[in-house]
Amino acid sequence: MSKKVLNYEMPDESGFFGEYGGSFIPPELEKIMKEITEAYIEIKNDKSFQEELLHLYRTYVGRPSPIYYAKNLSKKLGGADIYFKREDLNHTGAHKINHCLGEALLAKKMGKKKVIAETGAGQHGVALATAAVMTGLECDIYMGVVDIKKEHPNVVRMKILGANVIPVTRGTKTLKDAVDAAFEAYLEDPVTQLYAIGSVVGPHPFPMMVRDFQQIVGYEAREQFQEACGKLPDAIAACVGGGSNAMGLFTAFLEDESVSIYGVEPSGTGFEPGKHAATLKLGTPGILHGFKSYLLQDEKGNPLEVYSVASGLDYPGVGPQHSLLKDLKRVNYVTISDKETIDAFFELSRTEGIIPAIESSHAVAHAIKLAPELGKGKSILVNLSGRGDKDIDFVVDKYGSDYGVVMD
Ligand SMILES: *Cc1c(COP(=O)(O)O)cnc(C)c1O
Repeated sequence: MSKKVLNYEMPDESGFFGEYGGSFIPPELEKIMKEITEAYIEIKNDKSFQEELLHLYRTYVGRPSPIYYAKNLSKKLGGADIYFKREDLNHTGAHKINHCLGEALLAKKMGKKKVIAETGAGQHGVALATAAVMTGLECDIYMGVVDIKKEHPNVVRMKILGANVIPVTRGTKTLKDAVDAAFEAYLEDPVTQLYAIGSVVGPHPFPMMVRDFQQIVGYEAREQFQEACGKLPDAIAACVGGGSNAMGLFTAFLEDESVSIYGVEPSGTGFEPGKHAATLKLGTPGILHGFKSYLLQDEKGNPLEVYSVASGLDYPGVGPQHSLLKDLKRVNYVTISDKETIDAFFELSRTEGIIPAIESSHAVAHAIKLAPELGKGKSILVNLSGRGDKDIDFVVDKYGSDYGVVMD
């Protein structure tokens, strides 16, 4: 698998990863995206910007996040050793602060007054609201009312941070509808606002830019793992919604042929349409939200309804680079059900004292499956993309009694 064939130096100048990605947007947005691309390329090559961001990563986010050997869990499973990259320990509790700080600093440099965004689980909203406070920008967050109810603590956080949380009542009232609403608001005023997209999705340059801001996760983890174990892990895994925490981990390992890579999508409650969000497993190429990628769509190209117990994973599209990595067979895209996810949520809580986000629990569940298959002497590095504080009430209300959690 030579570098030349895979060409990981992507995307090309028009934002394509092979046939995926690009920029399929109304003419009035083209100029703005071009300006964002140019501004981004400039800061990417600007040492003082990179130093400013690194300084914030260290002193504000708490980077580098550690890797942790899950000894109890590994021993219990009796197979490969499981390690976690602890993005859950970041300020605001997930990996999203990595790209939100980057996007907010970019907005500031471009002279924007406001950042706007959609949010699913509320993690992107909280991270962006935080980054906005820090950089002195206003912040509007669009959120489906179903998610507003489910992710109450994050809604409260955003409001405390001074962000405007705008409820979205259309469609299934979840992530995709929030993206639609935020996109429309952005079209109304793309000059004073920057749409800070929450994952490696959207038109060029966002898939590239968000990946670049997240890749520190993988580069840190690769070095930390080598330092701790004297070798590379045999497998790495991350959950895939839009795909930012996964690209963050994967990028540093793409050229390490000995490392198997797993992207974990939610199969929810079944493989029928509307019961899952397994875009790479069951989707077909199409265009949504300004870019081409695998998509869960009907015959007319309209996005299908999607579902996952994890609000941050129920998106009918996926980052374009993942689509290419699927076609190239460099990454294995697998699925994990709601049930397996909640089992993993409790398993990690009760073996290691770490309550994971429901999103991250998908990746944990896959590692739990994979460890006995790989066997002793092998190792799996999992991106623990976020902490589960935001999910505890939901999980206990819905599933607590199955796991012996009874509230009086
Ligand atoms: C948002 C979120 C995800 C999903 O987003 P990706 O872009 O696929 O990483 C995963 N884990 C956590 C904790 C999240 O907040």
